[in-house]
Amino acid sequence: MARYRGPSCRLCRREGTKLFLKGDRCYSDKCAVERRNYPPGQHGQRRPKFSSYGEQLREKQKVKRIYGLLERQFRLTFERAERQRGITGANLLVLLERRLDNMVYRLGFAPSRAAARQLVTHGHFTVNGRKVNIPSYLVSPGDVIELKPSSRNIQMIQESLEAVVRRGVPSWLELDKEQFRGKVLALPTREELTMPVREQLIVELYSK
Ligand code: SF4
Repeated sequence: MARYRGPSCRLCRREGTKLFLKGDRCYSDKCAVERRNYPPGQHGQRRPKFSSYGEQLREKQKVKRIYGLLERQFRLTFERAERQRGITGANLLVLLERRLDNMVYRLGFAPSRAAARQLVTHGHFTVNGRKVNIPSYLVSPGDVIELKPSSRNIQMIQESLEAVVRRGVPSWLELDKEQFRGKVLALPTREELTMPVREQLIVELYSK
């Protein structure tokens, strides 16, 4: 599946908020949003004017970029959320959270979702004892995600695990750092997803 290969910080500046795409750098004063908090490009410093369509579009782009998806994959996820019972916007966010690359990031095995995606693609993880190398694989409550023994000395993973122990893992996950293993205790509720996202705008955009 295709993915965005351009500069990550540019995406944050476009959305005007930190999307945490680069690991430790995002928590440092080198963050581009901290230094230049205006959109990129020649006209970036002009006062932005958004129509309601513009607001909806920006919200959709923001969520897409947080999870590292391109339009087609995001749209398919939205359609799946629509078919589920409940509130479509909340369903969408929970589906995005259930992706294996996101879970690997949330558990702290990788400093960013992009790095997590690469680790998954390269076959470093098992789910319930079986190798899974599909970043969009949807995990379920009770699933156990484990780093393969042969991959446990990768420096990036060890450093990332140290950082997540400081920051903490979400309440719906359980990390056993010594065993390089994580368990999905439950699916997150909308209230537990604290990202500044107005998912209703995405539903409105796609309902046009
Ligand atoms: Fe975004 Fe991280 Fe770059 Fe800051 S450092 S602009 S949060 S990707």
